Amino acid sequence: MKPWSSVPQLAEPSMPFDLAQAATIERPEQLAALEPPLQRLLARELGVLPLADRICPVERANGQVTLLARAEYVGSDQADALIRRIQAAGYALSEPVRYVVPAPLLLALSRSPGGALPARHGSGRTPTALAGVFQDLVEWGVRQGATDLHLNVYRDAPESEVRYTVAGRYVAPDRFRPMPTDLLMDVLSVAWMDIQGGNGAVFDPLCEQQGSLLRQVDGRAYTLRWASLAADRGPSVCLRFLARDADAQFATLEGLGYQPGQVACFERVLCSEGGAVVLAGTVGSGKSTTLATLIRCLPGHRKVITLEEPVEYRIEGAIQNTIARDPGAAAQGPYAAKLRTLKRSAMSDVLLGEIRDADSGVAFMDLAGSGVNVYTTVHAPGAHAIVDRLASRFIGMPRDFLLTPGVLKLLVFQVLLPVLCPRCAAPAREAELCRGDATGRSVADWTRWLGWIEQLWGIDRAALRLRNRAGCAHCRAEQLPTLAGYWGRTVAAELLEPGLAALASEAGHAYLPDPRHSAMAHAMEKVGRGLVDPRDVEARFMAFETLLLRRQRLAAADGTVRTSAGGAS
Ligand SMILES: [Zn+2]
Repeated sequence: MKPWSSVPQLAEPSMPFDLAQAATIERPEQLAALEPPLQRLLARELGVLPLADRICPVERANGQVTLLARAEYVGSDQADALIRRIQAAGYALSEPVRYVVPAPLLLALSRSPGGALPARHGSGRTPTALAGVFQDLVEWGVRQGATDLHLNVYRDAPESEVRYTVAGRYVAPDRFRPMPTDLLMDVLSVAWMDIQGGNGAVFDPLCEQQGSLLRQVDGRAYTLRWASLAADRGPSVCLRFLARDADAQFATLEGLGYQPGQVACFERVLCSEGGAVVLAGTVGSGKSTTLATLIRCLPGHRKVITLEEPVEYRIEGAIQNTIARDPGAAAQGPYAAKLRTLKRSAMSDVLLGEIRDADSGVAFMDLAGSGVNVYTTVHAPGAHAIVDRLASRFIGMPRDFLLTPGVLKLLVFQVLLPVLCPRCAAPAREAELCRGDATGRSVADWTRWLGWIEQLWGIDRAALRLRNRAGCAHCRAEQLPTLAGYWGRTVAAELLEPGLAALASEAGHAYLPDPRHSAMAHAMEKVGRGLVDPRDVEARFMAFETLLLRRQRLAAADGTVRTSAGGAS
């Protein structure tokens, strides 16, 4: 990896720099203990301020100048050019002149106003510098398309961890390694000062805390939803990135990945009045995005109010409310006061962020029972499982209320799957499958596997495409090789209309899953179009072999088909 290789050759080429000649700084105390001490940042004076978070010239107490740089820049052409500039400005160089400094430390230093340098006593890091580090963590994540930033503090270790969720994967970029534990704690304390709707005036590593804060990145506003866990080794803070404005790319249900038939079902349901649309999925399955898109589709004559924890997306024309509640306190009905006023607000539609406990369950019943349209989300493993989840002892809604005709009008379950890079996805040949396989399956095993896809879903293997793990110039993100070969994500979903399903399962308490219209079937439809790698569908749902055995057993139990393969148990 040579970040400087793209820099045009300078007039006087120098010998390649030997990294062994640079001194290495790992901790803030080492920086503060340098002799003679660091005195003044020279980045502005030398006209290299934009470079300062990568290479930063600093004057020492004896008037000599030292270059602090990130490892990948310490020997770069830019560093060489800067050294010549320092000498041309009449400064003497220190010995050694170059120091390798971790990115977070250099950021904190270069972002401090007027170049405040580490003091001998105390950390010496100003709140502005710490806020700068936090902003850099947020910006990097947003620009990489991350959905979450994870700051894991390990109080028993000198270094802690910065991770992101990008395209559903939990990755640790090198850019923020090493992250000194005390620096990360200071960054979290400063970031918490801007929190809205949070519990606690200060960041408390021993408490579960929630709230949200706003940040601007590249001219767009983002809400960061903060959830910190008081884990054994220290606080673990997860920040979910939520773009506040409508994302043009995902402005429609089709854009999210819904089929035309599914979109027609949403439209049919949206035009009737009263009843609830409930969206299920796991964490990070895009439920909130789909709900916001749905609400934006509503005609302008409907009055929409939202109750969210917190507001995730700005929805034009809707009156949005953040419900703040203290996760440490006993249920105190944060919805109750809002609901009393809400019911006199003559609204037609209410978005209720999430049903996750008895309190939000009561709010849902209150609203759904009063004839308004309700849109909400819940954690459940399938559309047919939503009623069971709402009736579970955690939420506690009466089953007969839920099964009352008109209360639930649409149940949706969705997952997000990675989309193959259109430029480098490979045809599904056995040799290709063997190459990317860690389980050691043979060519014959993969041939059988391709046969199952054909047998189960009627998909011709010629249509299948696989992820190219190496990726191409189009899809390879510089620091995240785990995502090479993918290009965005798409929804796979199942929709269940209780109004239609009730006829089919008169005897049952809940609704039966329909395999022909399952989310897995939707995912396989995308596999059949070469958009999704079939191995990602197996990983998200179940092994094709399991599904085949299950079908054979069900058929055998029905007595309609007898096969030797399905008989053994
Ligand atoms: Zn590619």
